[in-house]
Parts: sequence; C-alpha cells; structure tokens
Amino acid sequence: MQDIVSDARAERVDIGFVPTMGSLHGGHAELIKVSSMRHSLTVVSVFVNPLQFGPSEDFGTYPRNLDSDVRMIREHGGTHVFAPSAEEMYPQGFATSIHIGGIAKELEGAGRPGHFDGVATVVCKLFNTVMPTEAFFGQKDYQQTLVVKQMVADLAMPIAINVVPTVREADGLAMSSRNAYLNFEERNRATSLFRALTRAKEFIENLEAPLQKRKALPRLEIEALMQAALQEVSVEYAVAVDAATLQSRDNYFSGEKIALLIAAFAGRTRLIDNIVTEIV
Ligand code: AMP
Repeated sequence: MQDIVSDARAERVDIGFVPTMGSLHGGHAELIKVSSMRHSLTVVSVFVNPLQFGPSEDFGTYPRNLDSDVRMIREHGGTHVFAPSAEEMYPQGFATSIHIGGIAKELEGAGRPGHFDGVATVVCKLFNTVMPTEAFFGQKDYQQTLVVKQMVADLAMPIAINVVPTVREADGLAMSSRNAYLNFEERNRATSLFRALTRAKEFIENLEAPLQKRKALPRLEIEALMQAALQEVSVEYAVAVDAATLQSRDNYFSGEKIALLIAAFAGRTRLIDNIVTEIV
C-alpha cells in the first residue's frame, strides 16, 4: 500500500481515503462517491479493528463480506482496497496506543471504555499507510469525527477531514452495518431514534413566539422530548450538547449549535444516531 501511494504522490496524484470496517452499505458508498469525485485515487480500507471493540462487544460476530465489499467499492469509484489482517496491523510486540482525552471521554467514550483510543490508533496507522490528502468520515459517528479532527490537529497530521452527511433508509433509520442484526420487530422500533431526533430538531428550529422571547432554551426540555419519542427502545443516552465540545449545558441560546445524540438498544443491537442543529 505504501509503495502504491508513494508512487502516486511522487506523480502529484491526490489521494482520497475512506476507512471502513466493511460490510458496506449506502452510507459507505456515499463516502466513496464523494472521495472519487474529488480525487483520482480513492483508497478504501476494510478492517474490523479489534482495538475498538470492548470485551463484551460484537467483534467476533461483526458482519464480514469482503467479496461484495470489493464489488461495491469498485462500483462507486474506489480505485484501491486495503484489507489487512489483524496480524499485519498488530503483529506480535505491537505496543503503541494513541490516547485521546477531552471530547473522547464523553458519551461513546464513557459507555465504551478504550473505544476511541482504539479508533485513533488504527486511524493513525491507516493514515501513515495510505498517506491521503483527504479522508472521509460519516456524520453518523459524530463524536468519532470530532475525535479524528482532534488527533489530526493535535499531532499536526497534514490530512483534511471531510465529514459526509448521514445516509438514511426511506423511513429515516441511519444506515449501519449493525442494522443487519435487527429482526423485523426491532427494525421497526429502531426508527424511533430518527423520530426522536427529528422531533427535537423541529422543536428547536420552530420555537413558537412565546418561546422565542424566552432568553434560554433549557436542555432538559429538549432531552425530555427525545425521551418521550424513545419508548420502544432501551436508551443509553439521549442528549442535547454543545456541538463543538460535547459538553452539556443547562440552557442554550440563540445562534448556538446543538448536537442531538442518541445511543439506544433495539433488542441486543446498540444503535447510535445524531442530528446537529442551530437555535435561530
Ligand atoms: P464503519 O464501517 O461503521 O466503521 O464506518 C465507516 C465510515 O462510514 C465511518 O466514517 C462512518 O461514520 C461512515 N458511515 C457509517 N454509516 C454511515 C451512514 N449511514 N451515512 C454516512 N456515513 C456512514
């Protein structure tokens, strides 16, 4: 991989990079399409990264379909697939980890200890291997996009980070490789995440006149709205936080950007989704 990209860079060819864990769907396809529109060479990595899974998580059962992934990558304009083995990425004696503090400690970081260190470590190694000019990440994993941006800024990595909007099914469910775990009934209940987010977003964006006159919008009011729409799933968090810092504040004010973030279980499947909005 490094030989290929070194040759390309020597010829001043721009490299777009889409890191994935495979089992590709329409969300990944969009990232690949956007990259291939902007770069003549698009590398897609397919690697189920053991470092970012907790001991009780689904590393063993995570869906793996490299043949169909390769077809999909080609179909959407990817030019190279990088699908290393775990031994290749983490040979015996591998002993380095990237630890990210700050925004990585909240939410996903709190519920999944070590997750973002695993993400940062693999993304750093992939960046050093693929040497992209621009890398593409989905807004679906909003906190992950902030973590990657933090690492790139803190460690002065010369790579642009492009965040691509979440691709959804017709009923609003965010596309995810883990949706394959859902049975019919869970799949129906899973749509409540998007409904809750939409309801809160509409509330924030269409505050009625009496509310608009109010100086502050209380966080608890937004979060209660989401909770009310999430009766059919088991909620881990449903929060309205500052979109840049992920800190939760008691009140939000006009002009501020709020990230609405949900993690919830439908059956045994953990789903996440988010919408970023602004108070007018
Ligand atoms: P994953 O294979 O789940 O690690 O995801 C690889 C990349 O695809 C990450 O940057 C994800 O945020 C992105 N992604 C996953 N699902 C979606 C989606 N529904 N829409 C847009 N991007 C997505």
